[in-house]
Amino acid sequence: TASATASSATNSAASAAQPAEVAAECSTVVESNDQMKYNVSQIDIKKSCTSFKIVLKHTGQMPKTSMGHNLVISKADDASSVASEGTGEGASKDFLKVSDSRIVAHTKMLGGGEEDSIVLDTSKLDANSQYKFFCTFPGHFGLMQGDVKLVD
Ligand code: ZN
Repeated sequence: TASATASSATNSAASAAQPAEVAAECSTVVESNDQMKYNVSQIDIKKSCTSFKIVLKHTGQMPKTSMGHNLVISKADDASSVASEGTGEGASKDFLKVSDSRIVAHTKMLGGGEEDSIVLDTSKLDANSQYKFFCTFPGHFGLMQGDVKLVD
């Protein structure tokens, strides 16, 4: 498949922040593309996982300056303002206010062919709260968002 080629090209970039290994059922891969879309609308996190790994792959070819994607997680109520304030930080900050305490986790901003991953400490997720994942690149929030659900 094309993804094998893409990931080998970005291994060196991703390895710098390689997180610890987690069990297979405690990880997932989310793809994003040049059509400004994620390939999933929901990420299920098993409550039994103490940590949960999310890999974001940009399967497109466009550069991050024109079609950048990240994956940011916050409570659903905070998502819109986290996204708009992140966008306001500008390209030099990859459109993210990294000191924002409302951000549960985030990948870096990716261009086509790149990937990055995050490992969530699931104990930091409140089972009684709603969470979302989304992209903070300008104009992407409307199409690029989904729910993060804690499941049994
Ligand atoms: Zn995006």
